[in-house]
Amino acid sequence: MIQKILRGYIFRLYPTKEQATLIDKTIGCSRFIYNYSLKERLNKKITNYEQIKNLPNLFTEYKWLNEIDKNALYNSIKNVDRTITNYENGLIDIVNFKSKDKYNVYQTTYYESNLNGKLYRSIKIDFKNHLISLPKIKNIKYRGYKKKTNLQGNIKSAVIRRTAGRYYISLLVAEEIVKPEFIPRSIVGLDLGIKNIIVTSYNEKIENSLECTNIYKRIKGLQKGLNRCQPGSKNRYKLKLKIQRLYLKLKNIHKSLIHAITNKIVNYNDIIVMEDLDILEMYQKRSMAKHLIKIPLAEIKKVLRYKCNWQNKKLITINRYYPSSQICSRCGYQNKLLKNLKIRNWTCPSCGAEHDRDINASLNILFEGLKVYINSLF
Ligand SMILES: [Zn+2]
Repeated sequence: MIQKILRGYIFRLYPTKEQATLIDKTIGCSRFIYNYSLKERLNKKITNYEQIKNLPNLFTEYKWLNEIDKNALYNSIKNVDRTITNYENGLIDIVNFKSKDKYNVYQTTYYESNLNGKLYRSIKIDFKNHLISLPKIKNIKYRGYKKKTNLQGNIKSAVIRRTAGRYYISLLVAEEIVKPEFIPRSIVGLDLGIKNIIVTSYNEKIENSLECTNIYKRIKGLQKGLNRCQPGSKNRYKLKLKIQRLYLKLKNIHKSLIHAITNKIVNYNDIIVMEDLDILEMYQKRSMAKHLIKIPLAEIKKVLRYKCNWQNKKLITINRYYPSSQICSRCGYQNKLLKNLKIRNWTCPSCGAEHDRDINASLNILFEGLKVYINSLF
């Protein structure tokens, strides 16, 4: 069975000074149009369609918008529409204007056109010479995916991002993959937590090696220095950049660990069962929020979901109110005392089985998922 998927490829860009200036300008203009359109929409004077139609008028009013990739500006308006729709549907609580500190990104869409018999493609990648071309910015040097010689699919869009003084591009590519047949040979229950990120029903504990205590310590130290710096000073800028780079480093460490963990789980199991955790709710609990910043559970869940989809594995989520850690996986007795998270080991008062809290929970999650799976067959 052939399936169409969207895959993201991230490259680090090495723009020349001129190219970097143009990227910065495009980012700035995208932010300007975003805030401008958002303001208009909040005043309820105008629809998304009208905004798109009116955009060329702004090009005459604000001449500097003509220097950059206009596609990025249309995308800004579309993003505003998405934000407003999400807000109206209750998916987000608050609509924010984008500040210079936070909005360092622009998006451009792929298109083709015929110019005097010559095919123009708005986004191009030259793997031989390691160059990426974007509208208005040709031949930007990049690094990444050394072994790749071409893309197995069509580029849909590109997001250009400035993080910690560095530039990245992520290309969204539509690919066709052959989905393997689903054969249910093995099943695993996963207990996601804080002390151990994942405990599997195979007695495996994946500990939280994401602690990265040293990096956090360095960030803390630099932050102290930052508070002592004069606002707007060169030193302050330098320190800020250093902190941003450390955060980027953490993000990359997290990312590679998440991929290693999820690959292992998805490659060796056909049915994967986990709790339907409400991450937002967990964040609201103060005691948990502190840890969650360091353990991206939401990200793990997201990556598991798409990897299962690509490899045709079944991901079953069970009700988050199922008391997986209170039930004895051997006899089914429910021990309410275990609501106390500090109890890590316990003996079942009914059958005498000795349990490790997390492994017992992962077994219960497996059993519950098996029930869901079997029910789905009839
Ligand atoms: Zn028992």
